[in-house]
Formats: sequence, C-alpha cells, structure tokens
Amino acid sequence: MAEKTKGKQLQEKLTHKWENVWENINEGENETIFNFNDDYKEFLDIAKTERLATDEIIRIAEKNGYENLDKLIEKNQKLKPGQKIYANNKNKSVVMYVIGSSDIKKGMNIIGSHLDAPRIDLKQFPLYEDSELAMLKTHYYGGIKKYQWVALPLALHGVVVKSNGEKMNISIGEDENDPIFMISDLLPHLAKDQMAKKLAEGITGEGLNIIIGSIPYNEKDLSDKIKLNILKILNEKYDITEEDFTTAEFQAVPAGKARDLGIDRSLIAAYGQDDRVCAYTSLRAILDIDSPKKTAVALFADKEEIGSVGNTGMDSLFFENITSEVISLITENYSELLVKRALLNSKVLSADVAAAFDPNFPEVLDKKNASFMGKGITLVKYTGARGKGGSNDANAEYISEIRNIFNKNNIIWQMGELGKVDQGGGGTIAYMLSKYGMEVVDCGVPVLSMHAPYEIVSKADVYMTYKGYNSFYKA
Ligand code: MN
Ligand code: MN
Repeated sequence: MAEKTKGKQLQEKLTHKWENVWENINEGENETIFNFNDDYKEFLDIAKTERLATDEIIRIAEKNGYENLDKLIEKNQKLKPGQKIYANNKNKSVVMYVIGSSDIKKGMNIIGSHLDAPRIDLKQFPLYEDSELAMLKTHYYGGIKKYQWVALPLALHGVVVKSNGEKMNISIGEDENDPIFMISDLLPHLAKDQMAKKLAEGITGEGLNIIIGSIPYNEKDLSDKIKLNILKILNEKYDITEEDFTTAEFQAVPAGKARDLGIDRSLIAAYGQDDRVCAYTSLRAILDIDSPKKTAVALFADKEEIGSVGNTGMDSLFFENITSEVISLITENYSELLVKRALLNSKVLSADVAAAFDPNFPEVLDKKNASFMGKGITLVKYTGARGKGGSNDANAEYISEIRNIFNKNNIIWQMGELGKVDQGGGGTIAYMLSKYGMEVVDCGVPVLSMHAPYEIVSKADVYMTYKGYNSFYKA
C-alpha cells in the first residue's frame, strides 16, 4: 500500500467530517436498527394524539415497573434509589423518574420532548350542512402549510365529556374498515384564480372544512336533514348530542399507519414524528436505566407546537411542582432551596427534531452547518430567528461535555442548524428549562418534510438517538 502523504496525514489529523451511521455499524447492528424501528412504528400507530401518546407511555411505564406518583404521595411513601415513578399531567403530558443514588441537590439528567403535533382541530360548534353535504368546521393547530391537508384521508380522534361527567374516547378512521374523512380540494380545471395566488393563500383556514356525510334523514319538510342524520348516527353510536361537541376536543390527523420508505427500507414516513420520535427514543432510553447515580428523568410535554403554554405545556409549573413532590419523598430535609439546587444543577437534552438538509430545497440550509439524513443524532446549539432571537444558545462547556459522552460511547452524531441565517426559524422547550440555571442543549433526530402530514426520518438516526439518549442517562 502506498504511504500516505504528509498532507493527507495532516488532513486526517486536523479536519473533521461527519460520518454516515450505515457505514459505521457492524452487521449485527443492522438488524437491531430495523427491529428497534418496527417497535417505533407501532408506537406511532397508537400514539396519534398527545392523549393517546400519554396513555401509551403510561401503559409501557407501568409494564416496566413504574409506579404512579399520586399513589405514593397519598401514602407518603418514601422513595428509594432505583425506584421508578411517573406523574400524569391531565392525560396530555407525563414525566418519568428513576431515582438516583447520589444526592439530589447535585442535579438530575433530564431528557424533555413533546407529544403534541400539528393537526386540524374541530371547532366547538363544528357540524353544519351545505350543498347536500354534512361538514365539520375546523381550526388548525400548530404551524401547518394548509394546502398539504386537503384531499388526504383523515382520522378523527377525540374526547367527549358528557354532562354527567362520563368521559368517552372516540377514534374513527385508523382501522382499515373504518370510514375516513376528507377536506376537498379544487379541481385544476377551475383553479385558474387559486393557482395565481400565493401558496399560503391558496387554501384558507376557514376553508379547511371536513366532509363527514351526505345522506338526509328520511322525512319530508325538515331542514338540515343531512346534519340531522349525522347527529342521529353519532347519538346511536356514542349517545352524544350537538351540545356535547361544544365541550369536546376533536383532532383530525392523517389516517393510517407509519410506513417504510425506500426500496432499502431505510426511512420511515409517518405522521407526528415531530416530536414523537424523540419521545419514543427517550422513553426507550430511560426504560434501560435501573440504578443510575443521578436521578434520570424523561419529560413528555404538550402544546410545544403552540408555544408551550397552558397547564400541560412546558411553560407551566407542572414539572417544577412534581419535582418538589419527588424531592419531598426522597429526603427527610425537604426545603425549597433544595429543589432550586436540584434544578440548577440538572443537565438537559431538549429532545426535539432538527431540520435535515433537503436536496429538493438546497437554498434554505447552509450545507456546512445543516444536519443530514443518516448521519446520526443531531446537536443544535441554537434555534431562534434572525440574530438568534428567542434562542437558548447552549454553552460551549456543556455541548463539549455532551460531545465527550457521545464520542466515548461510539454514538454517531452531528451538529445541525435550523436553516440559513435570516431564512426563518423556530424554537423548542429548551429556554423554559434553562431559566432554572440547568444546562440545556437541543438534541434529536433530523427530519424531512417537518410538520407535513407525513414526515420522514432515517431509521439509523432514530436508533442512534436512542443510543445517544441512553449514554446521557448513564453518564
Ligand atoms: Mn418539535
Ligand atoms: Mn414542531
């Protein structure tokens, strides 16, 4: 073999190149990656809303020995190292803890993701009849491109709380024998005016009305007979009335299951992967943790897509309050100061997706600083917009610490930036946790078509993110 030139040697020593996961695993690991992603797809198929995701996470947690914190508080039962607990926040958000052996004031290792995803919510008085069709009025949730949500099979998921307090979960459209729902689009033959509009205006928010039926109730001289027939069917099936809709929560999401993408089956196309991909990988990572030194925490927030507001969003005091409860069950010497120290000394991976470089849209990302599909778990130092406005901008000391954990554990990772400077921007839950003084950095899976009805991830990145989260808990 020819000897490497001096320049080649120097290049290898001094320059850095991100690696492709598929090229850097051994053969056995290939099967592990595919098996892990089969489990992940199953989770996606069940967890189509934040409520369904919360239910599924709690089901899995309980199966793995996690106890409901409420019950322990009631009994004032002290917590021991290695004990596993969870707290349910109004069935929309959940937090899991594995109690560590070291002093809690030294901090916790926290991974925080979110369970909500962009979607189409029903309005509170949704049902009406127009031109021989029964329709549902909607109000979209989160950052959607409205034109993507027409002419697409939709499922409806909701919770109805009847006047007697009885709560009913309704899901229609996921089973292949279920009917689906759909928002119609304009035929191209008559779309001259629509096509001349800006992309953002071709489909309007008030135009996102969902078709729900078309058979009239069989009686002469009656108005709104199609609407009445829909109400009759719903009443027979679920014992609900039009008034029950006014207090209910219904979401329309793309119907159907997660699918393998590509002839090599290396990618997944599915709804809601922002941010259920980070939720699932952090869930799997904490399930592997049995007796950590530092308390391990997996946090699954709601309402990230609309600014983390509300009592189930990250900006609420839920996590702080629940952590106070946990600390009061860990120590005999509970104080507010102890809680503050525990929070201050904690380390966080803000687990959210990154914008992967898209060869169809090379103009919006800086190729030198973007994350790529298949190049592993992605660290994002800052998000924000314009001059890093609204960004957490993680500290060099902390990012380097995470780098060392990843390198030591053979985690294939990359740095990513959310788009070119001044191209747009966004945010995550990072800054809400950093206000306690915790070290926080965004860290997750690169995604293509983010916020579209079907988002794309690489199975290699999903698996590497699980491994990366796992190494963080173990560090
Ligand atoms: Mn997200
Ligand atoms: Mn998002």
